[in-house]
Amino acid sequence: MDIIILIFIGLIGLSFGSFMNVLIVRVPKDLSIVKPSSYCPQCMEDLTWKDNIPLLSYILLKGRCRYCGKRIPLMYPVTELITGLLFIMVYLKFGLELDFFKYIIFVFLVLTVSFTDIYTSTDEFDTGMIPTVYIALGILSGLIFAFIEGYLSYYLAGIAAGYLVLFFPAYFYSKIRKKEGMGEGDFMFFGMIGAFLGLGSIPAILTMAAFFGIVSGILVIIFTKDKNYPIPFAPMLGAAAIIYMFFEELLNSYKWSSLFIN
Ligand SMILES: [Zn+2]
Repeated sequence: MDIIILIFIGLIGLSFGSFMNVLIVRVPKDLSIVKPSSYCPQCMEDLTWKDNIPLLSYILLKGRCRYCGKRIPLMYPVTELITGLLFIMVYLKFGLELDFFKYIIFVFLVLTVSFTDIYTSTDEFDTGMIPTVYIALGILSGLIFAFIEGYLSYYLAGIAAGYLVLFFPAYFYSKIRKKEGMGEGDFMFFGMIGAFLGLGSIPAILTMAAFFGIVSGILVIIFTKDKNYPIPFAPMLGAAAIIYMFFEELLNSYKWSSLFIN
């Protein structure tokens, strides 16, 4: 019985991942997310349901458009697969309790923001983009769950801490270097993460995200030889936040301090 639920949740995850691809590509361009239905961005041919099955269509079509034969960007199946796997992992960790719904929403928004930031960091756009609508939805839903759990102030403090902990360094960086390092979207995104994970999550997530940022910075310099190559920061925050979600017992800063203060 359990395996059926697992497969079902995995399939829901794949469909949400498929919808996420639509959001990633259309929202930054202010296009409608319902109309028109899916089409090949290269030959503009409308896609039928056969070309639109998450993951499966990509495999059956061997990664190429049925009409023009051009490559389907790898981003599509990757987004679907990651969403499907994370939905299953959230179920395995939290069971079908209230937390399941909280963290499904959280994972969906974190992935959407992270992938949108990556997608808009390419040449087509000027800078990475984090649409405010996701942040607003995230803060609202995070606070609804916080209210139900009865720890509203802990999560409100999480929002403030997440925002400010990036705002101040970025402010001084921009004053000193006369250019922007992180953007407003990154501060808001960390605030949104705080709304779901609370004040105790901020130190661990900041540490991990900074580490991921430094490692990717070094890799990018090695491979592109370009010291000014822009690295989107939201994916670093997003990866750190999802790791924290699964290992909160180990990473919550209140648990560390209890090692020293009894
Ligand atoms: Zn095509």
